Amino acid sequence: MSDNTVAVLDSVSRFLDRQHGLYIDGQWRASAAEGRLAVYNPANGQQIATTADANEHDVAQAVQSAHKAFSEGVWAQRLPVERERILLRFADLVEQHAEELAQLETLEQGKSINIARAFEVGSTLNWMRYTAGLATKITGQTLDVSIPMPPGAKYQVYTRKEPIGVVAGIVPWNFPLMIGMWKVMPALAAGCSIVIKPSETTPLTLLRIAELASEAGVPPGVFNVVTGRGTVCGKALTEHPLIAKVSFTGSTPVGRLLMRQSADTIKKVSLELGGNAPFIVFDDADIDAAVEGALIAKYRNAGQTCVCVNRFYVQRGVYPQFAEKFVARVAALQVGNGFEAGVQIGPLINRKARDKVLELLDDALSKGAQVLTGATPHALGGNFFTPTVLGNVQPGSLLLEEEIFGPVAPLVIFDDEAEAIRQANDTIYGLAAYFYTRDAARIWRVSERLEYGMVGINTGLISNEVAPFGGVKQS
Ligand code: NDP
Repeated sequence: MSDNTVAVLDSVSRFLDRQHGLYIDGQWRASAAEGRLAVYNPANGQQIATTADANEHDVAQAVQSAHKAFSEGVWAQRLPVERERILLRFADLVEQHAEELAQLETLEQGKSINIARAFEVGSTLNWMRYTAGLATKITGQTLDVSIPMPPGAKYQVYTRKEPIGVVAGIVPWNFPLMIGMWKVMPALAAGCSIVIKPSETTPLTLLRIAELASEAGVPPGVFNVVTGRGTVCGKALTEHPLIAKVSFTGSTPVGRLLMRQSADTIKKVSLELGGNAPFIVFDDADIDAAVEGALIAKYRNAGQTCVCVNRFYVQRGVYPQFAEKFVARVAALQVGNGFEAGVQIGPLINRKARDKVLELLDDALSKGAQVLTGATPHALGGNFFTPTVLGNVQPGSLLLEEEIFGPVAPLVIFDDEAEAIRQANDTIYGLAAYFYTRDAARIWRVSERLEYGMVGINTGLISNEVAPFGGVKQS
């Protein structure tokens, strides 16, 4: 083991052993509530840490500290170039601690260490540096206007963008660091203060990040982390009158609830909710490329991303070829503890998630779907799930309607383009869609007709720091 590996393991283990508090006003504070929340490793069910179970009183303290920092201008009134410099230093510190953060992610979330390194840390670093640069690029407009009196007089109207105030960020468990930073960085670049609440299931990386923000020079009160239950601590954030904006990523039902909770105090709300991504393979597609894209778009993080494919529509002429190649690759995917070399599919987040995937699978099988691979309990037991492909999936199967969030791929045959588009759009969701074709005219036509916020054309990976990320309809 190299000295560096020993040092990383040592800091991870010291971090896990801590009695984690709440990060408020640049300090660790104990919660006013006595209870603790356990954090488990989904690969073996072992408890790895405990965190504070913040109540309304704790949330109020965090929000007041963020509001005080905002009102006193310790961050918002800094020169944009200074905010940019501090945020770039923050990114450098995250890079220095990259391996420690990736290991914490695999421990608390279960994803393979390679995915943790590439997405949780690698993509987060790109995002951090891109958004740090936005601090110095906040623009307004100047417009020449006339007013009724005196006739012919010309005036200029100018607009400027100002930080809105205190932002609440509410983060899901699937990519806690990356999605957490999707909320933190733009808020800080704009000059806002933030109170961030990770999911109680995966709170550890954002707690570690709070210290790095402080070390980089983000002033006390500007970046606060509260850990606790969504129904208590998340709810209190969405109802607090000093929160000006809520940014949430998570399920559509909770998104609906959160809009209601935020309504009484008229907050601005940004929601990135569930998806039901279709993946269409046309007759003229490069089938090998489509199989590659399908694997990454379906099985990344064991199928637990909001842009993961939920339904495959394959044109009749290429169905046998696509299904055969895809099934062979899926059957060869390695399942196991994310730390083991070669593992591509880690466990699902918890028993509830595993049971939900099983229910959806049973429903599809009872309606006539055929097992092409998988669909058996995994030999490792626990939260592990065998990567599965189903053929002949019937309309009305819940798998085609609900977010699966697991490694199950339903295949459906279609005959013509209009039918594929109709089926793809037949959902309340509109986050991500994918299609494979080599026909240039079809590329333009289909991409316009798909009612989705993001459309991947001949690719299974669509997330990038320079592109907007979000959906339409109820996503
Ligand atoms: P949720 O939508 O329940 O949770 C997301 C975040 O919201 C968590 O931080 C949660 O806190 C918090 N929260 C829960 N209730 C409230 C509330 N009343 N007010 C404010 N905040 C609240 O997602 P789950 O983790 O339960 O996952 C359920 C399903 O949602 C998944 O199986 C998947 O289908 C979908 N999902 C989609 C995601 C996406 O990226 N679009 C991400 C995660 C899930 P806490 O966890 O502490 O309760």
